[in-house]
Formats: sequence, C-alpha cells, structure tokens
Amino acid sequence: MIKRVYADNAATTRLSERAFEAMKPYMTEIYGNPSSLYTEGVEARKAVDKAREDIAKCLNAQPNEIFFLSGGSEADNWAIKGAAELGERKGKKHIISSKFEHHAVLHTLEYLEKHGFEVTLLDVHEDGLVRPEELEAAIREDTALITIMYANNEIGTIQPIKELAAIAKKHGVVFHTDAVQAVGTIPVDVKELGVDMLSLSSHKFHGPKGVGALYVRKGIRLPNLVHGGAQERGLRAGTENIAGVVGMAEALKESVEVMDERNKRLEKMRDRLIDNLLKIDRSRINGDRVHRLPGNVNMCFQGIEGESLLLSLDLKGVAASSGSACTSGSLDPSHVLLSIGLPHEVAHGSIRMTFSTENTEEDIDYILAELPPIVDRLRSMSPLWEKIIKNDK
Ligand SMILES: *Cc1c(COP(=O)(O)O)cnc(C)c1O
Repeated sequence: MIKRVYADNAATTRLSERAFEAMKPYMTEIYGNPSSLYTEGVEARKAVDKAREDIAKCLNAQPNEIFFLSGGSEADNWAIKGAAELGERKGKKHIISSKFEHHAVLHTLEYLEKHGFEVTLLDVHEDGLVRPEELEAAIREDTALITIMYANNEIGTIQPIKELAAIAKKHGVVFHTDAVQAVGTIPVDVKELGVDMLSLSSHKFHGPKGVGALYVRKGIRLPNLVHGGAQERGLRAGTENIAGVVGMAEALKESVEVMDERNKRLEKMRDRLIDNLLKIDRSRINGDRVHRLPGNVNMCFQGIEGESLLLSLDLKGVAASSGSACTSGSLDPSHVLLSIGLPHEVAHGSIRMTFSTENTEEDIDYILAELPPIVDRLRSMSPLWEKIIKNDK
C-alpha cells in the first residue's frame, strides 16, 4: 500500500483519541437535555459547564465570556454582524479589515456593504503582515469595528494582534480577531492580547467538526444570533452539542499541554522542508518566515499549476492544498496570494502543506523525495515554463 502523508492540517485535523474518548459517553449513556432539571439533565449540564470552564481557562477568559457555536464561520459571522448592529445604533457604519481574511469574514463584510456599511480593507504587505500605522490611519469617527485575523490560513503569517488591538482600544473601536488558525497552535491569551472578541474552531486543533466558540469580552452585549431558548445566555438558542463541546475542550487542553514541545518539533520540520524546497530553481516561499505558524509551508514553483502539483502529489500519497479549501475547484488564484503582491501566474503555481502533531520527520523525507521530481516533470510539459526559460536567455 502506498504511504499516505496528510499535510493539510490547516483545512482540518484528525480527531484526537483523547477527545474522542471524552466525547463517547455523551453520544451514548449521557443523553439528557442540559436544560432539564432531573438527574440526566444535570449530568449533561455539568459537562457543558465544565467544557466552558476548561476552554475559558485555556484562553485566560471567564466562562461567561465563552459562547458555544457551530464553528469558526459562525463565530466570525456573529462577531462581525453583531458589532455592526451595535455600531449602527450609534450611527457608526464603517468597518476595517484586511485583504487576506478568511471568506467567513470577507463575505460577511460584502453582505454588510450591501446594507450600507463602508469597509476599508488594509493592504497586506509582501511579508503577509498588516502595518499597525496603516490601521491607525484608517480609523474614522464612524468606525464601528476592526476585524483582523490572528494567523492566516494559507500562508501562516502571524499578525501583531496585541499592537493592533491596542490601537483599536485607544480609539474606542471594538476589535475582533479570527483566531481559528492560532488557537491550539500558538499561545492565545485574550487578556494579554486585549481583544474584544475572538473566534475559534474545534476541528482545527484535533477536536470534532461542527463546533466552535466566540470569546466575547464582558461588557460587550451582542445582539441575538439565534432566537429561541435560553441557551448560551439567551443569545444563541438551541440544545447544546454536548459531545461536541466536550470534545473541543478536551482537544484544546491537550493541544495546550503539548504545544511547546510540538511546536519546536514542527518548526524544525517546517524549516527543513522549506530550505530544501528552495533549492528548486525558481521557487519561493510565500509570507514571512519568522512570523509564521510552526506547521505552515506555502511555496510557489514558477511555470506549473498548483492544482497539477496537488493532484500528482495525491497520487504519491501526499494530501496538500493549492490555495484554501474554499477556493479549490475554482480557477481564480488565491486572494491571499494576490494580496501579498504575487502576479496571477505565480500565484497559480503555489502549494500549501500544513503539519500537525501527527506528522513526523519521515513525512518530510517522503515529500522531499517525491515533490522535486514532480515539479521537474510538470515543468517539462509546461509551455509557460518554456517561455520563462527562453525569456531568461
Ligand atoms: C477554518 C477556518 C475558518 C472556518 O472555520 P469552520 O469551523 O470550518 O467554520 C475561519 N477562519 C479561518 C482562519 C479558518 O482557518
């Protein structure tokens, strides 16, 4: 059987054994409704409360600042639409974000633009980072919200969130960060960062899919997301996903416990892969090498299509990504790569490989053995490559 190397952990991760074990009882014996007053309900309620406490602790938040939701997209939607509504009540209809946000943010902002909001998208420079002084310059009297992602899902760059949040605070503007790629991967302390709202998603840190959370700082009163019962302090109605939140909490605790050691290992693997792939003629790394997630490799190989590379890698057993999962299948190059100034034809030749605690040095060896010959083969068939070479002579 051909070896499989899963190198797409930014898209999703495997459920950890520990999280799965923690979830099992809530999928079988403990099935009470947490809103019920009898014993079965009380047991379920305890599990939800404990999960909320555990997650709050991992983020240095209070339990009543954590709202359980269906995932990162829902958290981003609620934070942004909610803050927009709060702003609108005070006549503020301007929002600042950045060009390389996840579509859960960008498409929500497009929706708000159709409803009379004005949106300023900050440039992301070639290093994949926004500039604090550019944020400050974009703030207006009527700015209702600033939303800037913590770590980018494609190029893995880590924004100076603490500095950006401090600027927002100085000007009295609500600050939200999509921290879906950061939570469980790098240390996240909401108090230290000084953010007002922060999105997280369980399946990005080895928890189950379809569950996430939004941290909402005490003092911010978001409008209802779902009307109905009293769940999530009356703001997001619906019987809780008990197994889901239990699994998310267990996975986050585990991720935080292993973080330091795991990241040291991942950084070493990442750097070895990058250094060796950079030996390929006309290759480049996308995004800053230092302010970068430990498991993120995003590279361009001129003259080939990322899509072809991805499919060839899959035949060799390697699961990678060209652009984000949401855009694969479309022929548009990634908006993230365009935002850092890559020309269309270069952005097309990019590939993302993202690693987790599950990956090993052998996986890197395997990729280093299989990938360069594929690039050679694809280039030998590429008219684009021929042109590049000719122009050089
Ligand atoms: C995956 C991801 C999301 C969406 O999270 P879901 O739980 O899949 O809805 C949002 N933002 C970023 C940065 C992501 O990587």
